[in-house]
Amino acid sequence: MRLTTVARRGNVVNALDPVWGIPIDTKKTPFRVEIRGRTYYFVDEQHMRRFLEGARVAYFSMEIGLEEGIRTYSGGLGVLAGDTIKSGSDLKLPMVAVTLVNRMGYFRQVISETGDQLEYPDPWEPSAFMRELPDTVEVRIGERVVRVKTWIYDYQSPAGSLIPILFLDTDVNGNTPEDRLITSHLYGGDEIYRLKQAIVLGIGGVRMLKALNFTILKYHMNEGQSSLLALELLRRNDMDANKTRDRSVFTTHTPVAAAFFSFSYETARDLLGDEFDMEEIRVFAGEDRFNMTALALNLSTYVNGVARAHVESSTRLFPGYHIRAITNGVHPCTWTSQPFKELFDRYFTGWALEPDLLVRIDTVPHEEVRNAHMKAKAALLRYIAEKTGTDLEPDTLTLGFARRMTGYKRATLLFSDLDRLRKVLRRGPIQVVMAGKAHPRDEPGKGLIREIHAAGKTLKGDVDLVFLDDYGIDLAKLLTSGVDVWLNTPLPPYEASGTSGMKAAFNGVVNFSVLDGWWAEGWMEGNTGWAIGPAPDAIIGIEARRAMELDDLYNKLEYLIIPKFYHEKDSWATMMRNSIGKIASHFHTHRMMRRYASEAYL
Ligand SMILES: *Cc1c(COP(=O)(O)O)cnc(C)c1O
Repeated sequence: MRLTTVARRGNVVNALDPVWGIPIDTKKTPFRVEIRGRTYYFVDEQHMRRFLEGARVAYFSMEIGLEEGIRTYSGGLGVLAGDTIKSGSDLKLPMVAVTLVNRMGYFRQVISETGDQLEYPDPWEPSAFMRELPDTVEVRIGERVVRVKTWIYDYQSPAGSLIPILFLDTDVNGNTPEDRLITSHLYGGDEIYRLKQAIVLGIGGVRMLKALNFTILKYHMNEGQSSLLALELLRRNDMDANKTRDRSVFTTHTPVAAAFFSFSYETARDLLGDEFDMEEIRVFAGEDRFNMTALALNLSTYVNGVARAHVESSTRLFPGYHIRAITNGVHPCTWTSQPFKELFDRYFTGWALEPDLLVRIDTVPHEEVRNAHMKAKAALLRYIAEKTGTDLEPDTLTLGFARRMTGYKRATLLFSDLDRLRKVLRRGPIQVVMAGKAHPRDEPGKGLIREIHAAGKTLKGDVDLVFLDDYGIDLAKLLTSGVDVWLNTPLPPYEASGTSGMKAAFNGVVNFSVLDGWWAEGWMEGNTGWAIGPAPDAIIGIEARRAMELDDLYNKLEYLIIPKFYHEKDSWATMMRNSIGKIASHFHTHRMMRRYASEAYL
């Protein structure tokens, strides 16, 4: 594992106090404790007691994306979970997180010459990042008892508190070969496999926290997949729903009912066995099917959606529930490229903890913003040249689009009318960089990648179109900082929030997006970026909507975006500053976590 080693002004300082992140000379402090396989050092006894006995918020997520090498994420949900933990640490919130180890990762993507997605296992080695604990707990899955162990990763930002993250693992001696693979593939297998994973995460996770002597104040379910934890809480509280609710917080990320994870009561009974009385559970999880979102909703006092528009659609789905809106954010330090970090450091001391300071970006000359951007752009173009052999032009307007390749994200909307796209180019050249994985079972999603591939061939000579393999955190950093315009074309209301456009904003990249999810809140036309299509509350048929979207997409490119980029450089730089000052200053996970802390946790 990585030790937190800090060197400071020649003093021997080789650990951080886990509560306040204060640098400590481990040889001198008498306040030390060995627990969970590691020695921790503290500035005083109070901190030591708080670390050992203080109550924590337990944050459960099926995926957590902390860094490229820890392959336990597939996309936005996991990256948000990682950003949540990082902000929790920066803000010194007492938290512990729980997820699955998924040693085979999600999958590694390679795009073939013909535009087909090839999928490979994506193994990673937990012991290179974290330590294994000897403790195990048991969960019942069907007829069998499955033993669960855990890995522990101590996340601590430089001046933040330490947040342990548990990576649960069923690869334990004594488990059947089949059960040893339950925590192997993120979102792998069938419905049964997913339900087994949910049992390990929710029920196994609560038991593991107890086995490791964590005192838990609140259980936060990040999306419905972790909601079986509420079953375990119910059981512990003699089926008292109110006591369970007092402990539970639920964040829903899904705007449409079809996407909720649900299964038949027969399956539920088969897998959850006699540990739970399904007739009692039905009251909470739904009459006809065991619905994990319903379970979470019915057993939490605090429920929130991830953007205002998302809360409106969720409230229609769940009349009678009070769903708050806490709009997502991104972690400032993670998503700001090196050139902008240096720029912000020079002008706004403390910005990484208080990104609200970025509202003062107008005090930074255009030239400096432009220079920082050109450095980030050069880094992306170098990467592209290395990976693909294609040399893109640093001075050409570059559009970026990278996200999960799945139907509603409409990755090919830009290529709906290639003739019209070619006409747009009369105003000036563009180049396009794209990336994204389709879930291995999402055939239409894979079809999108083939369509993009085909569009690239058709457009050859007119537009350079590059599709980069294996979208992940590192590539997301390069892309969201290195393009000029970040494009997003989801079909409303499917994009609950979206976060990549916020990453772009931290790097002065301008958004051009459909008014869904967070963009409905961040958008000021011609000021922070541009909208594609009608207002979010427009009542409009699907055909008419599409026509308006295509008009906006091509017309705004032709008459607003391309001319401004090439001929009004100062006005363009002002928009870059607005992206930072009016978007990044607000859409960050520190704000989000402060709201969780004050409204939901405490
Ligand atoms: C930020 C991020 C996402 C989410 O992007 P959206 O805009 O929400 O689609 C997905 N994958 C990776 C690797 C990311 O970094």
